[in-house]
Amino acid sequence: MRFLITAGPTREPIDPVRYLSNRSSGKMGYAIAEAAVEAGHEVVLISGPVDVVRPRGVAVISVSTSDEMFAAVRQQTSGCDILVMCAAVADYKPANVSKNKIKKRGANISLELVPTQDILASLPKDRQYLVVGFAAETENVEANAHKKLREKNCDVVVANDVSRSDSGMESDENEVTVLFRNGENKKISRASKKIVARALIKIFENVCEKRLTKKIA
Ligand code: C5P
Repeated sequence: MRFLITAGPTREPIDPVRYLSNRSSGKMGYAIAEAAVEAGHEVVLISGPVDVVRPRGVAVISVSTSDEMFAAVRQQTSGCDILVMCAAVADYKPANVSKNKIKKRGANISLELVPTQDILASLPKDRQYLVVGFAAETENVEANAHKKLREKNCDVVVANDVSRSDSGMESDENEVTVLFRNGENKKISRASKKIVARALIKIFENVCEKRLTKKIA
């Protein structure tokens, strides 16, 4: 199968030297890319700025802003079998990017933010590939993830609780719940991101196989 995976944060420029970003390390997305290659799949990884070693056998496309990630995903989806949107794409970006470095003044200043384009929500409804979204939540994890699955028209959502310091963002370990369209859930208990990634690849392969069987039947 051909996997298209996104990983890491995006950076939304404020001026030539400043940006808005988040704490995503990219470790989960890179581990998924590595596990997919290990399982014999072809992998294209669209990565935001991260400090993680590139897995062998993975074609990496480096991007910085949410707009760049949006364009790269749109360009790469043709011919892919599964899109795994693991990246922590910024939800907001500055309304205007200052051409020059903003000077320090004594008074308060405000920054106007506008929503970024939602990559998942903008995907065509009649697509052929499987779409996996990620939900990083700090409260009501499963309920919010189910809402995301419906609202963003995903086939699968991988939910994790990022309020815990021992799993999720920046950590080497993770514990996730995988939610499916039919309302079923599957829990992957706490383990290294490498182990979690292997379990996720098996689940994704199963969903793809079931879809294919359904189409043929
Ligand atoms: O809404 P929220 O950012 O929590 O949703 C997370 C999921 O949506 C992730 O799979 C992320 O990659 C995706 N996303 C996106 N485009 C955005 C923001 C998030 O595709 N602009």
